[in-house]
Amino acid sequence: MLVVGLTGGIGSGKTQASNWFAKQNIHIIDVDVLARQVVEKNSPALQQIVQAFGEWVIQADGLLNRKALREYIFTHPDALITLQNITHPAIRALAKQQIDQATTAYCILVAPLLLEGGKTGLKQLCQQILVIDTDEHNQILRASLRDKQTTEQIQAIMNNQLSRKQRLQQADHVVTNNGTLEQLYAKLIPLHQYYLTLAKQF
Ligand code: ATP
Repeated sequence: MLVVGLTGGIGSGKTQASNWFAKQNIHIIDVDVLARQVVEKNSPALQQIVQAFGEWVIQADGLLNRKALREYIFTHPDALITLQNITHPAIRALAKQQIDQATTAYCILVAPLLLEGGKTGLKQLCQQILVIDTDEHNQILRASLRDKQTTEQIQAIMNNQLSRKQRLQQADHVVTNNGTLEQLYAKLIPLHQYYLTLAKQF
């Protein structure tokens, strides 16, 4: 199965692009969805999180108390590594399972942090990397319109992500999304054709 990794900075247009591929009957694996799935109630990863941090990370209804954990990580930076050491292998295993079960011509793994994580990262599951790129001005404008976040909040997220240069260096293809959505979709058509042809080798 050919796996195309689709990534880009905050507000770059990953979701819009992946929705377009989904309409072409391509299976989309969304890592943000998997990240929530692996810490579901009674999941092994959630149990490991309790062992690492304590019972306070669980709400009365058995769900992960995301807000409390987020606040704890904010003041204990090492805790993020501990959390990632638990969740990343689980996310990776789930992604692998979905890839193995996919029956479409190829599949797309969408992840904001696809290129982070080095040798154990999600990039290793992909044979092609597609980066959706838009300039900083558009990133801030679009992300703030969508989420009602402030420029400072979006800038802080951007500072935590890979720089544009580091991201673009790792791409097999870059689609620039500075125009209309129709222009974005038009750029995806030849890529889809390319992936369909390439997929025959896998
Ligand atoms: P995030 O990583 O923050 O989830 P994303 O990369 O998935 O973002 P999208 O959700 O696809 O980005 O796009 C961000 C916002 O910008 C959305 O509201 C989307 O509809 C809008 N948008 C994306 N591309 C365009 C475009 N070319 N023209 C107008 N609006 C756009």
